[in-house]
Amino acid sequence: MPLNRSCYMVICVVLLAASAVAQEATFTENRAALVRELRAYAERDSTLPGGALDSRVLEVLGEVRRHEFVPDGQRAQAYKNHPLPIGHGQTISQPYIVALMTDLVKAEPEHVVLEVGTGSGYQAAVLAKLVKQVYSIEIIEPLAQEAAERLERLGYENIETKLGDGYFGWQEHGPFDAIVVTAAASHVPPPLIQQLKPGGRMVIPVGGRFQIQSLLLIEKTLEEEIVTRQITAVRFVPLTGGH
Ligand code: SAH
Repeated sequence: MPLNRSCYMVICVVLLAASAVAQEATFTENRAALVRELRAYAERDSTLPGGALDSRVLEVLGEVRRHEFVPDGQRAQAYKNHPLPIGHGQTISQPYIVALMTDLVKAEPEHVVLEVGTGSGYQAAVLAKLVKQVYSIEIIEPLAQEAAERLERLGYENIETKLGDGYFGWQEHGPFDAIVVTAAASHVPPPLIQQLKPGGRMVIPVGGRFQIQSLLLIEKTLEEEIVTRQITAVRFVPLTGGH
């Protein structure tokens, strides 16, 4: 007997739901595999202060749905340990670099953190699971808008984003316990040093577009001295803007 139309539609809906469940299970497995890979990668990384990533940071990378932060065509690659294009010539950072930067600022639950370079919103989402409040600035309008919509849809309530030049920080919400800059600057922006709390930490890649960039960890001591350490060589898109 031929299937009638409503019967056919029910079968289609059931098949679609089954494929969505299977895909979700694959993402969950891939996320767990990524965490194992990052833990092993960190053990071999001689530049990593302390020799291991904070287990809370790894736990969060095991929770945040990176596939939601990449373009549809890149979803199958979302849990590979490499950067991916997010449009407008920009990239979502490699998961190991996100884990490393998050580890270096020593995020605590009461912290208020500034991120410069929202991009997809992924680094902000990772930070948001570890701290009280994240403020994030993006200079490219469509990216800023997409990230704001994405973070809202995914239910991140402790992230506030804005369109602007992050070189100047976000004075009205500072000073910050930590600042994470995810685009490479030619020098450390003085307004960001000024908006760092005594006892606070900033991670920032410094160097030109075609040069080897250095990931710097900058600490402002309680006596307001600035202590800078070079952590490792990195490659980020440039910090742009009219500063
Ligand atoms: N943190 C992002 C990755 C960012 S790539 C993520 O998790 O997806 C760097 C981002 O910095 C790009 O989106 C770029 O547009 C942005 N950017 C570059 N210069 C900037 C500036 N002066 N102020 C704010 N954002 C800037």
